[in-house]
Amino acid sequence: MSKPVAICVIGSGYVGLVASVCFAEMGHQVTCVDNDEAKVKTLREGGVPIYEEHLPELLGKHLGRGGDFTTDLSGAVEKCQAIFIAVGTPQGDTGAADLSYVEAVVSEIARAITSYKVIVEKSTVPVYTNEWVRRVLHRRGVEPDQFDVVSNPEFLREGTAVIDFLHPDRIVVGAGTERAADLLRSIYAPLTGGTYYERPDALPGACSAANPAKLLVTSAQSAEIIKHASNAFLALKISFINAVANLAESVDADIEDIAAGIGLDSRIGPKFLRAGLGYGGSCFPKDVAAFHWVAQQQGLDFQLLEEVRRINDAQKDVFFNKVRAALWTLRGKKLAALGLAFKCDTDDIRESPALDVIRKLLEAGASVTAYDPAAIERAKAVLPPTDKMVYAESLYEAAKDADAVLILTDWKEFGQIDLAELNRRVRFPIVIDGRNLYRPQVMADHGFTYVSIGRPANYNAQQGKPRQMLL
Ligand code: NAD
Repeated sequence: MSKPVAICVIGSGYVGLVASVCFAEMGHQVTCVDNDEAKVKTLREGGVPIYEEHLPELLGKHLGRGGDFTTDLSGAVEKCQAIFIAVGTPQGDTGAADLSYVEAVVSEIARAITSYKVIVEKSTVPVYTNEWVRRVLHRRGVEPDQFDVVSNPEFLREGTAVIDFLHPDRIVVGAGTERAADLLRSIYAPLTGGTYYERPDALPGACSAANPAKLLVTSAQSAEIIKHASNAFLALKISFINAVANLAESVDADIEDIAAGIGLDSRIGPKFLRAGLGYGGSCFPKDVAAFHWVAQQQGLDFQLLEEVRRINDAQKDVFFNKVRAALWTLRGKKLAALGLAFKCDTDDIRESPALDVIRKLLEAGASVTAYDPAAIERAKAVLPPTDKMVYAESLYEAAKDADAVLILTDWKEFGQIDLAELNRRVRFPIVIDGRNLYRPQVMADHGFTYVSIGRPANYNAQQGKPRQMLL
């Protein structure tokens, strides 16, 4: 059994909260700090502020028993050996990451340091942030032998965040000293040594005692770039398949067959080859922009990243045009929108393509009735309910009297619709699927006009609409 480490995690958002409960699950003593008093109160009272599988059970298991929440950053820093910074790094006006939250936290840490600490960048940050953190600490009078700065980027995905954290593909540690690298090694030892996976209460996943998590030690700069480059590459894969989808559609080929054929190449792999509305969320859009900015700062013209972004933005227009082509005019039309979150299994609506599409439809004069299994409350804060923007309790309620049903998020529930019931609810049996959740033949068999991404549209013969009129 490795020795428990006293860990402080600053920020209790998607990353900080998951990291906190998972470190506690691994046997460490964790204090999670947030300056949002309401959030800390909710957490202390046993509430769960975000929708994430396994989070409620782990919070219940560790709250007050190895896991604690506070707004007192100084107190937490004082009693901990490792301080993980997991605050937001949103996109700034220039595309660069806004590091003001990180800087504010580092300044506060500087005031609280009285003994050696390892300060860990968990937030996604541009290369050389470790150097800036070091400088800020130094300028605020912290002696160089009182701290090390380590980059330990996080690769979890919302929706599977807890399992991703406990069963990572890899753990990257960018450290300039062996002392700091060793502390990180001991923090992750339950995963890299496999002892966590031997426990009867371990959450199951891809790693095991025989195949434990791998930890890669690099320089801090390399670790920072690994994170940006990973996200940029995944975004690139999505934009690539969307560009191929648009080509496929124009020649009556099927992107699902094409993606299967590409993905079976072991050098490429099947993941992130799902054609659709494009990527969104709090990471890919901002990280692609930030990585592009980083390259520009070094005098490099990384145009590929600009193209990745352009294809992604255009994909929402591609979908919008499909809706218009299927319905002719949009003013006064009643549309059922299935999905608000940027992807399935999360309530996160940041940079959600679903919301972008809904906004465009509202601007075009349509009215929208939306349903999402988890994201309605968050969506209401940015798209308040009106007579044109209505929120439904179920997908069938949303579909009632709809001129068309739009699938905007890849929730499992939306791929398992009772199609006969859906057909009874709608005014016209038209489904425009931005996530390719159905086989066109299945939709045709249920009497639907079915339009998807990168596949020939399938028009309901009974409606007698010739294809060329609709494109
Ligand atoms: P988030 O917005 O959900 O959470 C950030 C938290 O930090 C908030 O609770 C906020 O109140 C808190 N905070 C801000 N300033 C603070 C301060 N001065 N003191 C204490 N708390 C403070 O953000 P997130 O989605 O968890 O992302 C955090 C970082 O992790 C970002 O850099 C992001 O790019 C990166 N990341 C995110 C994901 C993801 O899927 N969300 C995955 C990998 C990496």
